[in-house]
Amino acid sequence: MNPLLQEFNTPYTTAPFSKIKNEHYKPAFEAAIKIAKEEINAIVENTEVPTFDNTTVSLENSGELLGRISSVFFNLNSAETNDEMQKIAQEISPWLSEFSNDIRLNQELFKKVKSVYNSKTTLNLNTEEAMLLEKQYKSFSRNGANLEKNDKDTLREIDMMLSKLSLQFGENALAETNAYELHITDISQLKGLPEGALEAAKQTATQKEKEGWLFTLDYPSYVPFMTYLNDRNLRKEMAIAFGKKSFQGNEHDNQAIVLEIVELRHQRANLLGYATHARFVLEERMAETPETVLNFSNELLQKAKPAAKKEFESLSNFAKKDGIDTLQKWDGAYYSEKLKKELFDFDEEALKPYFKLENVIEGAFTVANKLFGLSFEEVFDIEKYHEDVKTYKVTDEEEAYIAIFYADFFPRPGKRNGAWMTSYKSQYIKNGENSRPHISNVCNFTKPTATKPSLLTFNEVTTLFHEFGHGLHGMLANTTYNSLSGTSVSWDFVELPSQIFENWCYEEDVLKLFAKHYETGEIIPMELVKKIKDAASFLEGMQTLRQLSFGLLDMSWHSPSEIDFKKLSVKEFETACFSDTQLYPDVAENCMSTSFSHIFQGGYSAGYYSYKWAEVLDADAFEYFKQEGIFNKEIGEKFKNTVLSQGGTQKPMDLYTQFRGKKPNSDALLKRAGLLK
Ligand SMILES: [Zn+2]
Repeated sequence: MNPLLQEFNTPYTTAPFSKIKNEHYKPAFEAAIKIAKEEINAIVENTEVPTFDNTTVSLENSGELLGRISSVFFNLNSAETNDEMQKIAQEISPWLSEFSNDIRLNQELFKKVKSVYNSKTTLNLNTEEAMLLEKQYKSFSRNGANLEKNDKDTLREIDMMLSKLSLQFGENALAETNAYELHITDISQLKGLPEGALEAAKQTATQKEKEGWLFTLDYPSYVPFMTYLNDRNLRKEMAIAFGKKSFQGNEHDNQAIVLEIVELRHQRANLLGYATHARFVLEERMAETPETVLNFSNELLQKAKPAAKKEFESLSNFAKKDGIDTLQKWDGAYYSEKLKKELFDFDEEALKPYFKLENVIEGAFTVANKLFGLSFEEVFDIEKYHEDVKTYKVTDEEEAYIAIFYADFFPRPGKRNGAWMTSYKSQYIKNGENSRPHISNVCNFTKPTATKPSLLTFNEVTTLFHEFGHGLHGMLANTTYNSLSGTSVSWDFVELPSQIFENWCYEEDVLKLFAKHYETGEIIPMELVKKIKDAASFLEGMQTLRQLSFGLLDMSWHSPSEIDFKKLSVKEFETACFSDTQLYPDVAENCMSTSFSHIFQGGYSAGYYSYKWAEVLDADAFEYFKQEGIFNKEIGEKFKNTVLSQGGTQKPMDLYTQFRGKKPNSDALLKRAGLLK
């Protein structure tokens, strides 16, 4: 029997990792897709009048097995992969997109969904049921299910062109990144660079059979170069090379592609009945409308700008000592780093002994216990996919079973970079039974050695708390429907539980609990903590302006008032957008949009504002805890009941105001960043 086809829904039955072999995946996917198709067919072929139960709920419940197998496969493909799994992923990805296209384009199925949707006011649905119906209907209508045949064809055509163009955009930007290298043979030009950056540059040169040092526009090479290199002319050369990617009028130029993409997105939105692409995207976000995003951005801009200008002035003055008359873009990172060192001279390494991994985990567990009454017991009878993984059984104050938690913290060849939260099984209630979730945190922290435990940088400590916050969102989920459960919420809301949890890392009363020197047991000195806090908001005004400028550029491209795209100049459009947010002099040969991959290649269009938005939310929400006590159980309970357990069952703004008693505003963020006294 294929182990992937076996249930692991009953309490404590978890994914049978030891039994799963690579050869099990494809047959399991095939079988599960077949079952899912039969489930869909049964809905379509049902001759009874479509009802919430026989249509909405049946559609929600279809494909459960496929979902479970996909979770196992794709989670492992990120955390413990091999060549064969990557090959399988290539093969099955088209199967999965074909299957979901088949559902989205199934006109008979849509007719039934729509018929239930049209009678929604007579159905006496509760909030969650109404949300499920709404989301299900929109998943069809937003993909053109309501369009006439002609318009449907146009939509498919636009979608195909768009996916080709964003691919092309990415390939061009990558080609330009790869086309540039800075070759240095005289080490005296490389003063200021740290040892690690020099070594890496030497290695890059050796790989290309060159003498000396080679620098590229890839971040690991580019960022240290701009941050530390003393030679201003070389920094300038590098910065300009970086800034003119796909803006050089050659075969990799992206200007025409940018204009085509925004025009097609605009047409697509119009076809579906939306005035702009931004309006189309934001309909399903917490912000809901472009007006909300613009008001939010402009308000924050007005409040942060005076501080940003002051910071820019003091950075300029600081650089004047070096004979710099006008601070340029290629001076920013360099003098920021120098000034930071002068103001908060502390060594990241000196902090690490206070952050032994086991203690930090214990710290996160303790905070979850104090706020939400959760207990984490390490268990050894649950299967793991790698020996480094730790498994926990999570219970609440009544000792009721809440979740399984996997913690997988060390790098290894089969794991991708970064840190993330995922689940092997999500939460839902079916036939009166609350089926609890299996949640996983995956990170890449330094592994312990025979003589030294795993010691984290402060940045890694906040990363652990961040991912654990996502984890709690999954673990405390308490909804009826799977697709609305846990972290299944809109993009601009999903970072609230993770980012708010980071705030506890900066609190003295929290650090006292776990930040103990691994050899002496001494608690972290509070003046170090203060430095960490101050350094965290260093040049925050300038950072805020920079983030806002990207968000506003994104919004402008996707809510154009100028409809004649052919007449636009990308550079002029961009310069106009930036007029309110730029501190540095403009560089004529540079353009941001032509390599703005987030919005033209990836899926962040009309969504870049979410970064700042999430910060506003987490600061505003944490302020409530600060007022009422950071371990206040009542507020913890309230956060659990209104946010963490609710998933996407209600509009995020409604959930938030139920928690906070008011809508969020940026004051707490500005205060935290020291921008508002
Ligand atoms: Zn996150």
